Amino acid sequence: GRRTPVPTQRFARAAQAATTPATERRAILADPGFGRHFTDHMARARWSPEEGWHGAEVCGLRPYELHPGTAVLHYAQEIFEGLKAYRQPDGGVALFRPELNAARFVRSARRLALPELPPELFVESVAELVRADAAWVPDPATDASLYLRPYMFAAEAFLGVRPAQNVEYGVVASPAGPYFSAGSAGITLWIDREHTRAARGGTGSAKCGGNYAASLLPQALAKQHGCDQVLHTIDVSGETFVDESGTMNLFIVTRDAELVTPSLGTILPGVTRDTVLALAEAHQLQAVERPVPLEELVGRIDDGTIVEVFASGTAAVITSVTALRGPGTRVAVASGKPGRRTAELRRHITDLQFGRRPDDRGWSYPV
Ligand code: PMP
Repeated sequence: GRRTPVPTQRFARAAQAATTPATERRAILADPGFGRHFTDHMARARWSPEEGWHGAEVCGLRPYELHPGTAVLHYAQEIFEGLKAYRQPDGGVALFRPELNAARFVRSARRLALPELPPELFVESVAELVRADAAWVPDPATDASLYLRPYMFAAEAFLGVRPAQNVEYGVVASPAGPYFSAGSAGITLWIDREHTRAARGGTGSAKCGGNYAASLLPQALAKQHGCDQVLHTIDVSGETFVDESGTMNLFIVTRDAELVTPSLGTILPGVTRDTVLALAEAHQLQAVERPVPLEELVGRIDDGTIVEVFASGTAAVITSVTALRGPGTRVAVASGKPGRRTAELRRHITDLQFGRRPDDRGWSYPV
């Protein structure tokens, strides 16, 4: 019942000038940080059972005025996505595999009983916003890019617990520099066994705000223990398995050239994860998706049969994991420096994203 026909109305761009002075924009782009600054425009659309998707537009960035009874404020019916626009060598701009984000957004919507946004509308909304804010796509010299944040929430003012009859979709954009201040030098992970991010049948594989709310306490504890990120774990039949990191999927490179990552189920199916798996063969690595017991991870880092550990995600692409810590556990991966495979895979992916190598996979989406 929540599927609706593709609307005839597309994301028309309202003629709207940039509001940020060029000098200010340039200053922001010189040091954008992450998620702090927003561009001049946004994309919006609304959904109701009667009208389906309607009101699609790219307009000036503006706040919402929400009734205190708005459903999302009470029951957290919210999903989102994250992808980037990359400046190309010819001065143009391209997205990277946006269809995968569109498909994941549909799956997230289904899990949260929100209406499904047709994938072509998702991609169009993002592309139209990037066209309107093309001046905000940074110079790629430092691997900077324009981060895009599509989202959807239950906008009806109603306190009954039910699938919303009134839903808002939007996309905002934010210029992004390197995600971790440590850059690509490597991060340390705090193994959290006290909390769980997800359980079988839960919302772990959906990109919904609630998952991130639940991760903030474990993440704060990771920081308190001097680590950069939390490593979530999940207990199944009395055994503890590795799940994923805060906002990244986890990978292991073994001494016999296996590239191992936890199977899908309770984790977010990362676009970068999928990309890494698809590129494994080109790097003489054998991709293996399987449950990874925590004991195996720690034990094989300790005995040296795991030679590299890294995390993957849109924001940081690929980040080397140089050490893991937990109550009574402290292991350094190999030399404690980023490994060769980690660096090569990162290079391969960023070269594809920034158009620095031929797009032999058809992953680039010029806007
Ligand atoms: N896991 C979680 C929990 C995330 O938030 C993200 C970021 N979207 C990822 C993994 C990586 O996914 P992607 O490669 O699509 O960015």
